Amino acid sequence: MELRSQKARSLHQSRPVVPCAQCGDTLFAPEWSEYLDECRIRHLWSCDTCGYEFESEVFYPPLGARAA
Ligand SMILES: [Zn+2]
Repeated sequence: MELRSQKARSLHQSRPVVPCAQCGDTLFAPEWSEYLDECRIRHLWSCDTCGYEFESEVFYPPLGARAA
């Protein structure tokens, strides 16, 4: 079942999964996401386990740079 595990791993990496900075619990989905511009997204995370809230920013290369 190597093919199946590889597929699951790539799916895992494509999602914004982060550990809680307070208790280390895994957060699978941001509370909400804000698009700062076309290549930056800010996620607000809220931990169900300890109630800790924090923000993270995700950077994407511009579409032109990615194609070049
Ligand atoms: Zn937590």
